[in-house]
Amino acid sequence: MPVFWPRTLSAGHYYNVWGTNMSKRELRVIVIGAGMAGILAGIRLRDMGLTNFVIYEKSDRIGGTWRDNTYPGLTCDVPSHHYTYSFERNPDWTRHLPPGSEIQQYFERTCAKYSLYDAIRFGREVTRATYEDGRWQLELSDGATDVADVIIAATGVLHHPRLPDIEGMWDFHGRSFHSARWDHTVPLQDKRIAVIGNGSTGVQIISALAGEVAHISHFQRTPQWIMPVPNGYYSEAERERFRRDPAALEEAMDTATYEANVESYTEVITGQDTAGAMHWTKACEDNLERNVTDPALRELLRPDHKVLCKRLIFSPDYYEAIQRPGVALVREDITRIEADGIRTADGVLHRVDVIVYATGFHADQFMRPMQVTGRGGASLESLWLDRPKAYLAISMPEFPNFFMLNGPSGPVGNFSLIDIAEHQWHYISQLLDRLRNGDCLEISPLRESLERFETERVAAAKKTVWYTGGCRSWYLDSAGIPSSWPWNYSRFVREMSEPDWPAFGLEPPAHRSNA
Ligand code: NAP
Repeated sequence: MPVFWPRTLSAGHYYNVWGTNMSKRELRVIVIGAGMAGILAGIRLRDMGLTNFVIYEKSDRIGGTWRDNTYPGLTCDVPSHHYTYSFERNPDWTRHLPPGSEIQQYFERTCAKYSLYDAIRFGREVTRATYEDGRWQLELSDGATDVADVIIAATGVLHHPRLPDIEGMWDFHGRSFHSARWDHTVPLQDKRIAVIGNGSTGVQIISALAGEVAHISHFQRTPQWIMPVPNGYYSEAERERFRRDPAALEEAMDTATYEANVESYTEVITGQDTAGAMHWTKACEDNLERNVTDPALRELLRPDHKVLCKRLIFSPDYYEAIQRPGVALVREDITRIEADGIRTADGVLHRVDVIVYATGFHADQFMRPMQVTGRGGASLESLWLDRPKAYLAISMPEFPNFFMLNGPSGPVGNFSLIDIAEHQWHYISQLLDRLRNGDCLEISPLRESLERFETERVAAAKKTVWYTGGCRSWYLDSAGIPSSWPWNYSRFVREMSEPDWPAFGLEPPAHRSNA
């Protein structure tokens, strides 16, 4: 049995400081971001009795991605009752897949119910965090400063809109905006609209606007596989039953089946479940064959990559929408944007009044552009020179007491990120306990722990369908390596159940008390 003793500060080496005589510390915690994960952190900190915290939010409202995205048709493709906190069920979802506006209202209600607004400082962007003398010194965009023992970065993943670099796009005379910055002052009814982008967002916008505007063109650089997932309604009677009887709601959720589906999905991604892969593939192929009648259109819509290589699109009605009168599919490459519309490689000018860029996000930014400087001047930028990385997606060597929710290399996919964040919180709360109990003053993983994790992760990532499936997507980093969790869901749940303490240079708590 290895013995873990305090490591002392030595140049360029990791250390954790043991303090056997320390009593409970009152930790000052700063949470960055009041989206889904920041709200979770605030509620859970209070549950732990850690009341000395604030949540800095750069915007003027909570909600993160659900605040920023207000486009027509916005829907989460995770079952409503699984896109909720485990401790705050919502009997009032009206649809089987939750509309974006209801999700935003749910978070606002939850914040109010848990009196979290008191802890949130709106319009305060953290621009710099520097670790000095055992604490994090923070600078905010308004010149204010703050100090914390612990930072929880809950800054989200898809929050920096990615605009394409298309020649002439600033010469366009009509109105244009990114899907996550929807301009609701622009009336659409009698307009000719172009939607560029064919991810979950572009598809939802087309489905919502088809038949509602004068004309809409969908510019698809790459076709996508589409899973025909219906989106039914919960009747008022069902909702009333869920309100009265939480057990009925839990039963309706059928969590065991949901988790089995997530497990199977992640096994398909990682190439372990070939029967599952065939099932997803057949369902998407059948959807295309059965629901697109024109053979020429069908071939234009047929992807040449494997199902699940890109994030799968769940849509009950996209194929119906794209075949409606007044809706056009454009597969020709865009060559430039002109004052009156979009010119494609075949020389055609597609005249439009409005261009919507549903072109995705800079998924590699995480808490950046915040400047983060760790122990001994270690900079986040240098640690992330080749790609964003974090040990188990949560923490980084030389950045003590800095923990992330939905950080780099965490699980992403067609499942609930709330569930993922709750598992991550369970892990982080155990790290916080060690700090609070005075077991140590600093927690960060050993350099070799991150190196070992990354080596194994990258090797596994190269076996995933994201890498082998013949497509490009936002799942890939700048070197073309999938940046997400490349193992199945149960491994994630297992890893999150308890920290591997030696990876942090710490003795497991039970061993220490026996010492
Ligand atoms: P995305 O999946 O990154 O899709 C961006 C689209 O823009 C792609 O079709 C891409 O084409 C296209 N594009 C980018 N630059 C282009 C250019 N210069 N010319 C032509 N096309 C260009 O973005 P997203 O649809 O906003 O979705 C991002 C993520 O948000 C999703 O994967 C999902 O995780 C999340 N989301 C979830 C839901 C939900 O229901 N839960 C809904 C919306 C979004 P290529 O494929 O050829 O690169």
